[in-house]
Amino acid sequence: MTKILKVAVSVPLRRLFDYVPPAGTDAADLKPGVRVEVPFGRRRKFGMLMGLADEPEVDRGRLKEASAILDSEPLLSPDDLRLLSWASRYYHHPIGEVVAAALTVLLRKGSAAEWAGERLLRPSTEDLASAEQACARAPRQAALIRLLREHPNGVPHSRLGELDWDWRSAAEGLIRKGLASWCENREADAPACHSAVSPPFTLNPDQQEAIAAVRAALGAYTAFLLEGVTGSGKTEVYLQLTQEVLARGGQIMILLPEINLTPQLQARFRSRFSVPVAIFHSGLTEAERRRSWLGMQRGEVSILLGTRSAVFMPVKSLGMIILDEEHDTSFKQQDGFRFSARDVAVMRARLLDIPVVLGSATPSLESVYNVSQGRYRHLRLPHRAGGAAQPGFRLLDIRGHRLREGLSPALIAYIAETLARGEQALLFVNRRGFAPTLTCHACGWVARCRRCDANLVVHAGDHRLRCHHCGFEQSLVGSCSGCGSEDLRPLGLGTERVEKALGEIFPGARAVRIDRDSTRRKGRLEALLNDIHEGRVDILIGTQMLAKGHHFPRVTLVGITDVDSGLYSTDFRSGERTAQLVTQVAGRAGREERMGTVVLQTRHPGHPLLHVLIREGYSGFAKACSEERRAALLPPFAYQALWRAEASDIEAPRRFLERVANLANQRTSRDLQVLGPVPAPMARRAGRQRYQLLFQSGLRNLLHGNIEALLPRISELDEAKRVRWSIDIDPIDL
Ligand code: ADP
Ligand code: ZN
Ligand code: ZN
Repeated sequence: MTKILKVAVSVPLRRLFDYVPPAGTDAADLKPGVRVEVPFGRRRKFGMLMGLADEPEVDRGRLKEASAILDSEPLLSPDDLRLLSWASRYYHHPIGEVVAAALTVLLRKGSAAEWAGERLLRPSTEDLASAEQACARAPRQAALIRLLREHPNGVPHSRLGELDWDWRSAAEGLIRKGLASWCENREADAPACHSAVSPPFTLNPDQQEAIAAVRAALGAYTAFLLEGVTGSGKTEVYLQLTQEVLARGGQIMILLPEINLTPQLQARFRSRFSVPVAIFHSGLTEAERRRSWLGMQRGEVSILLGTRSAVFMPVKSLGMIILDEEHDTSFKQQDGFRFSARDVAVMRARLLDIPVVLGSATPSLESVYNVSQGRYRHLRLPHRAGGAAQPGFRLLDIRGHRLREGLSPALIAYIAETLARGEQALLFVNRRGFAPTLTCHACGWVARCRRCDANLVVHAGDHRLRCHHCGFEQSLVGSCSGCGSEDLRPLGLGTERVEKALGEIFPGARAVRIDRDSTRRKGRLEALLNDIHEGRVDILIGTQMLAKGHHFPRVTLVGITDVDSGLYSTDFRSGERTAQLVTQVAGRAGREERMGTVVLQTRHPGHPLLHVLIREGYSGFAKACSEERRAALLPPFAYQALWRAEASDIEAPRRFLERVANLANQRTSRDLQVLGPVPAPMARRAGRQRYQLLFQSGLRNLLHGNIEALLPRISELDEAKRVRWSIDIDPIDL
């Protein structure tokens, strides 16, 4: 009997589909991990061969024949398939959609999996020093030769593309002189040497210890939490570890939040290693993404810098995974297949028996807990590299003070002193736009979004009112739609408003605003950062964007206009997030000899967690906050799963989740709490009514067992057909 193909098809069904092999194909020749084209309903779809079986689940006569096998060799290895199957089970997400998440769009659509390699510009002479001299009168050619000296195996075309000058004519010049030539970087002549350029300093003892610990673990699974304040030299540790992995012939995956994958960081890896570096993030073209993917899958490229979605990418001989800023919420996919790239990375390392390093200045309480349980090994870099000082904190009690657009006289004085010293000040404001609310002074009317339970945000720059949740926008109204009064007032603080106020208070100072609005145009953020680094800026105003990834060595004052909003929120994680944000923003300030000051404006100067944070730093805070969580039996001391449902009417999602709750309660032990259903924190969004239902348990297996048992019954409920529903395992926003 011919074997049956078990195929994962990207549809929202929690199962594989059976096919017979295409005519003329012997199933015995097929290996799981190849793509298969199959008839599906009235259409054709591309799927992934997950396995072969002797007997189908349905009558053999009803089976359809697969149309084609796309790949002669598997795209996904048995290890890759094992990881994806685990993820599908753990996140209770349809396997076909999980597999699709591991492929790029082009590969999902059946495009050929041929790795074209990359053109390299290679030196044609060994004596590059003389060659440089020979080009003394052609400075661009000389610059290219210096680049060739850093990359004796050839400079990748993509690396040249990053140069902001006309390298093409310089390259042609070198080729004409017989000093360089183009070649294809294919398997046969893949670079053999990956010598790294050593750093211009000696590693400090903490760095050496961290590197030694991870090096000793190579070749086996260990999870490390590398806790190091901003500027403590974590990235340097990553570079050294990369070198260790490459020296053993392995490949390495370095995962970062989207915003941290900056050109500077890429440049740091590229200038350190002479091997190609693959990049994978949402800003690339699909062709570029496929190239990075295939380069790692084939083992042609050794270093990957990628974001969340890269965690499932197949890698031929993965030697280590590093995930930086592990506390960052952008590692959690918040729609569709909701996975945590951090947790998947740890599981992947376990399945492959390799080390995984999670780095952060402000580790999540989950990771801190895992350290306390002995699941992760703790490595610390407590000092700033090169001996730079830690910033000092000051709490500013703003009760009873007259604020000028949210700025207290004391904060304004701090800014003035900083500017007088010729240093930079950074103001953190948690909302973008001019003001989060527009209200009528005569009747109290508030501009609301028609489709969401949310206020419209005033954007003064382009005279618009915008909803930050659904994208609705309209022009800024001049009169109240309730009473017609023209006395409309913006309420609350946004970055634009603070920028304007500072412009009035310090008319001579050069201020820049950094938020999603001001950096929308491509290249704009880089240009602004450049101005800041070159000292062409005196005051920086921005949102969380300022708290991530960038270092501002000239900044010596950080002002946080409002810490209170984060301390008093319904989300139990808001305290943790606020502490992380404050610490991260603070860490951007001051470098080397320049000491930074961090000023926090508050109306609750007695808040206990705020005090712990300031007195004992983030670690002390994490300890205290963990104790609160333990007492309240909240994660990480309990496990959660959140059912969400939405529809255009309010009844359907509530009724559906009530059915789910009933089904759960029928079978439940005391160890599973079923909480809800309740309206979602923003009950109406983009015109959809949203409800949620929380499952919580101290026992992870019990929680997952219940969900698994419920899912088949839930899918069959009539109520399920009237809503869009999903399940979120380990949710991070409730
Ligand atoms: P992090 O990633 O923790 O913010 P980095 O690795 O970027 O820290 O290091 C911060 C700065 O200190 C960088 O400019 C880096 O080159 C430098 N640096 C790192 N390690 C050392 C060291 N041992 N001695 C001197 N400078 C160092
Ligand atoms: Zn009015
Ligand atoms: Zn809206």
